[in-house]
Amino acid sequence: MVPRKPLEILKGMIPELPSMPCTRRSEEVPVLFREPYVHDGYRAPHQPWHYYLLSLFQIHNEVMNAWTHLIPFSILLYNVFTRTGELDFSADHTCWALLLLGFGGCSFLFLSFAAHLFQSHSEHAHYMCFILDYVGIAFYGFTAGLAQFSICSDPWFSRVFKPFFFPLLVASGCYTCVCCSYGKVRFNRPYPRMRWVLQISAVGSMYVLSMSPVLHRVFMDHFRGSMDTVSWMHVAHASFFMTGVFFYTSNVPHKFQPGTFDIFGHGHQLFHVAMATMAIVQFETVFRDLQSGRHLLLSRPSATSILVQLAVVLLCCVVSTLGMAVKVRRKLRNKVQ
Ligand SMILES: [Zn+2]
Repeated sequence: MVPRKPLEILKGMIPELPSMPCTRRSEEVPVLFREPYVHDGYRAPHQPWHYYLLSLFQIHNEVMNAWTHLIPFSILLYNVFTRTGELDFSADHTCWALLLLGFGGCSFLFLSFAAHLFQSHSEHAHYMCFILDYVGIAFYGFTAGLAQFSICSDPWFSRVFKPFFFPLLVASGCYTCVCCSYGKVRFNRPYPRMRWVLQISAVGSMYVLSMSPVLHRVFMDHFRGSMDTVSWMHVAHASFFMTGVFFYTSNVPHKFQPGTFDIFGHGHQLFHVAMATMAIVQFETVFRDLQSGRHLLLSRPSATSILVQLAVVLLCCVVSTLGMAVKVRRKLRNKVQ
C-alpha cells in the first residue's frame, strides 16, 4: 500500500466545498445589484444560502467588503469582553453606557458584514439585508451619543444640555433608522440625488449630535491647554469618521478607473476600514475616560432613563423594519405584475 502524504490526508478530512459558479459581469445581474464603476465579480443570484456563506472564502466583488467588517467585529467583540470585564457594573451604572456602545459597534459591524455577504441572494434579500444594515447604523449612533454624553462630556455641557440631548438623541436614532431604510426601498437605481440627501442628512445629523459632547470637550481641552492622550484619541476617531465620509461620498478611487478596483481597493472597502477603525478607537477612548472617573463629575442619565431610551429606539427599529418589509414585498409584487 502506497503511504499517503500528510496534505492528502488533511484534504480528505475537510468536507468538500461546493464549487462556486463563475462570477458575472454587471450586465448579467439585476440592476439592483449593480454598483457604479464596478464591472465584474458579481455573484450569481438565486443560489442556495450556503453558496453565499462559503463565498466568504472565494474571490468576488463583495468579499473584501465582508472581511473589512468581519475582522474588526472580532477585534471589537474581544475588546468589549476584556474591557467590560474590568468594570464593576453594580457600583456604577454608567458602565452600562460603555457596554451598550460596544454592543452598538459590534451590531453595526456584524450587520454590515452579513448584508454584504448575503445581499446577492435575491432582490428581497438585498433590501432586507441593507434595511438591517441601516438598523445597525442607527442603533450604533444612538449608543455612541449615549456613552459619549454620559462619560466624555465637559461638566458644563452635561449640565446645560442634558434636558434636550437625550430626547433629541432618541428622535435622531429613530429618524436615521426610518430615513435610511425608506431611501433604500423608495428609490430605484440609478439612485436620484434625493436618496443621497435623505440618507446623508439623517446619518450626518445623528453623528454631529452624538459627537457634540466630545467636540465641545476637545475644544475646551484645547482652549485650557489640557489636551492629553485621550483628547487626541477623540480627535483620531473623529478623523477616521471624516476619512470614511470622504471615501463614501467621493467614489474615489474607483470612479477614476472603472473596473480596476472591482475586487480590491474599491472606495467602499476603504470606507469600511475607516469606519471600523473609528469604532475600535472610539470604544477604547470612551473606556479610558470611564476608567479615569471624570464622568463622576457629570450630570448623567439614571439607569431607568437609559433603559427607557434603549427600549424606545429598539421598538422603533423593530417597527420600522417590519413596516419596510411590507413595503419591500409590495414593491417586488408590483414589479412582477
Ligand atoms: Zn458597506
